[in-house]
Amino acid sequence: MKVGEPEEFIIDGKRLDGRAPDELRPIKIEAGVLERADGSCYLEWGGNKVLAACYGPREIHPKHEARSDRAALRTYYRMAPFSVNDRKRPGPDRRSVELSKVIRNTLESVVFLHLFPMTAIDVYIEILQAQAGTRCAGITAASVAIADAGIPMKELIPSCASGKIDGKVVVDLFDTEDNYGEADVPVAIIPRTGEIALLQMDGNLTQEEFEEALNLAVKGCKDVYEKQKEALMKRYGGE
Ligand code: UDP
Repeated sequence: MKVGEPEEFIIDGKRLDGRAPDELRPIKIEAGVLERADGSCYLEWGGNKVLAACYGPREIHPKHEARSDRAALRTYYRMAPFSVNDRKRPGPDRRSVELSKVIRNTLESVVFLHLFPMTAIDVYIEILQAQAGTRCAGITAASVAIADAGIPMKELIPSCASGKIDGKVVVDLFDTEDNYGEADVPVAIIPRTGEIALLQMDGNLTQEEFEEALNLAVKGCKDVYEKQKEALMKRYGGE
C-alpha cells in the first residue's frame, strides 16, 4: 500500500466521495463565457474547473503550418500553476504536449476541417483546477467552444472515463481513486453513430472488466452529451 492510500475505496456500496459506482460527479457547462473568443465554454466537473476558448477559422501563423486541403486544428492543453496541490511548474511539459495531441486527435474526428483550407482553428484548454479526468473535461469543454464558435462539425464530442478501484469497475474517477486505483480508461464518443473517438487505458483490466469499463464510460459520455446540448440550447434558444 502506498503512503496516504485509503484502506478501502468502496464502503457499503458507496465511494469515498459518496457516489455510487456508476454515478458521475456533478457537471455544469456554460457556453459563450468569453467576449474576445469566437467560441468559449466554462465547465465544472466535480473538482475540475476548465475554460476552453476557440478562435477561427483564421489566418495561420507561422505560414508553414498551413494545409492546402484543410484547416490546421491546433489545441493547447495547459494546467494553471495553482490547479493542483503541488504547484505545477508553468510552461509546457511532456504531459501537456501529449494531452494537447490526444485532444486534437479526438476533435479532428468531428470538425469539418476540409471546409477551411489554409486557415487555423485554435483551441485553448485552460485547467484552472484539477481533480482527475481533466482530458475528458477538456475534450467536453473544447467541443462546446468549437460549436459556440459556429464551426461546422459532425457532432459534439462528449468524453468520460471509467476505471477500477478495490477490484471494482466504476465511472469517472476522482483524484484519490485515480492516484491509487488499478486502472483508468478515458473514452470519448460520437453519440449519433456510437463511434469511439478516444480510447486510452492505463493499468490492467481483464477482458470482461474492460468491456464493463467501456460500457460505463460510454454511458457516462451520453449523460455528458445531454449537458453539452443543454448548455448550447441555453445560449442559443431552441427546445
Ligand atoms: N495531476 C497533478 N499534477 C500534475 C498532473 C496531474 O496533481 O502535474 C493530477 C490532476 O488532478 C489530474 C490527475 O493527476 O487531473 C490525473 O492526471 P492524468 O495525467 O491521469 O490526466 P487526467 O486524468 O487529468 O486526464
